[in-house]
Amino acid sequence: MSPIVGIDLGTTNSLIGAMDAGFPILLADADGERLTPSVVYFPQSGEPLVGRAAARMRAVDPAATVYSAKRFIGRRVGEDADDVSYALAGERGAPVRMRVREREFSPEEISALIVKKLRADAERALGGEVTRAVITVPAYFNDAQRQATKAAGELAGFTVERIVSEPTAAALAYGLDKLGDRAKIAVFDLGGGTFDISLLELSAGVFQVLATSGNTHLGGDDIDAALVAHLARAAGSVGEAASFPDAAVTSPRLREAAVTAKHRLSTESEAPIDLPFFSGDQNFSYLLTRAELEKLAQPIVEKTRAHCLRALADARLTPADLDDVILVGGQTRMPLVREFVRGIFQREPNVSQNPDEAVALGATIQAGILSGAVQNVVLLDVTPLSLGIETFGGLMNVIIPRNSTIPIKAGELFTNAVAGQSAMQITVLQGERELARDNWRLGEFELEFERAPKGQARVGVQFEIDANGILHVLARDTKTGAQKIVAMTSAVDVSDEAVEKMLEESLEHAFEDMSDRVFVEAKLKSDELLPAVRQALAQAGGELCADERTLIAQRVAEVESALATGAGQPLKRANTALDEATQRLATILIERAMRA
Ligand code: AMP
Repeated sequence: MSPIVGIDLGTTNSLIGAMDAGFPILLADADGERLTPSVVYFPQSGEPLVGRAAARMRAVDPAATVYSAKRFIGRRVGEDADDVSYALAGERGAPVRMRVREREFSPEEISALIVKKLRADAERALGGEVTRAVITVPAYFNDAQRQATKAAGELAGFTVERIVSEPTAAALAYGLDKLGDRAKIAVFDLGGGTFDISLLELSAGVFQVLATSGNTHLGGDDIDAALVAHLARAAGSVGEAASFPDAAVTSPRLREAAVTAKHRLSTESEAPIDLPFFSGDQNFSYLLTRAELEKLAQPIVEKTRAHCLRALADARLTPADLDDVILVGGQTRMPLVREFVRGIFQREPNVSQNPDEAVALGATIQAGILSGAVQNVVLLDVTPLSLGIETFGGLMNVIIPRNSTIPIKAGELFTNAVAGQSAMQITVLQGERELARDNWRLGEFELEFERAPKGQARVGVQFEIDANGILHVLARDTKTGAQKIVAMTSAVDVSDEAVEKMLEESLEHAFEDMSDRVFVEAKLKSDELLPAVRQALAQAGGELCADERTLIAQRVAEVESALATGAGQPLKRANTALDEATQRLATILIERAMRA
């Protein structure tokens, strides 16, 4: 079977990983680089360039170089600041498209080119075909954005096994799934272009997002821009070079030098910048200090504060409630950012993982869990379809509804439909249809109980899906305590196509399914009512007047004819009418019983 890879499809950079001998590893491209810039360049002719080669073209041919495509995924024209160097197409309100060299692309098509490159790198590194992937998305991505990301993976030839939230993946990479139940963590993610803060709670082995906030236009790029402007001002006032021409200060060389210096200042206190022949024969030399950089970065980093406070308030948490704070995104390597996080959350942030690789590593671990390469780690999952049992009349009785977070436990009490019954057949079903026969049968077994008159037995049925997605069905005779437990796999691992088909069918047949259910339920009632009325008439019919007897006979005939037509609503009405017509008969019987 083809391995499952984990992909961090980032705004600035993307990464891909795979499990190797039980450990997640990130795969390098042919140049030995693991970080692939999420950039696509379209040359005049020939195949698009992706990654580092494309990023280099950004300065040379900005109109033909698409970057930050992720910002536009699932978005419409006019929803977001369109401050990119390439053209956007489409009317206001239409899905965003990018226009490059007379051609138009959707954001997912651009993302697909990036994923395709990652896939080729992975195939080279692993020496075989790779067709299955887990892809991460920001926690705030809505359904349409998740679907679009999935589509990008599919366009690149992958079967997308799962879409995972980035903070959840990061928490997995930091090993926080090992924290105890109810542990709460903050994931502070400051990347090149975006900032996200997420508060998660670990509940029975599953991460739940309690709150998220962020800014899709805040990140290391803003610090770079501030630094470049600062250096340009400095360049304009150095010594004999009275001023460099504008082209020089916006040059890619200056930007590159600024970014390198910024990175250096994360570990050192000074970084020399030397650009020989920066403009004509003029050199540019400058000694940048960490203090200087921090002064420029401070207002940018400060913008994350309100989001952190908002997320805490939304989750109704205080910093003291948190068990850990983890850092994600390359920009969190900056000491100033770490100090800032320490200040807000009043604790030392966890820096045990590589912040720009944590999401990809987590996606890889998740891929490992899905492929079975990682065990004893929980599935971060919900039930894709409802689970239940078949009840009287062939109906589906849902016990765990679709989209419940696992692990989960739920149960219900059932009784016997037939007098003298001493066993109950438990048929476990999965699906969204009203009639048992239209759902999938996961398994069945029989529970014996003490023989009982109709409706007197009490059988409890409990469904429990554990953290590994295994369904344990327990049935117990509550009177004697006799019970049976049966485990069933495959309750969670259902292919997406199968789930989609089931959902489509349930929508398509919703109306007839509902009327089938109404009929079955009404028929169960008629099956009880008719013999009871016949018996009552035989016992006390003589005490009714002729008119009353005629009316009851007429109502009985109506129930019988509705039964024959199979129509639910008329049968339901006929049952009610018969019930009403026999009120006095019922009273006579009760009084007689009391006299006796
Ligand atoms: P990401 O989007 O997570 O790949 O983060 C990219 C951002 O992190 C860019 O703005 C980088 O300049 C920044 N970055 C990467 N390494 C460092 C570092 N050592 N110190 C400061 N910033 C860094």
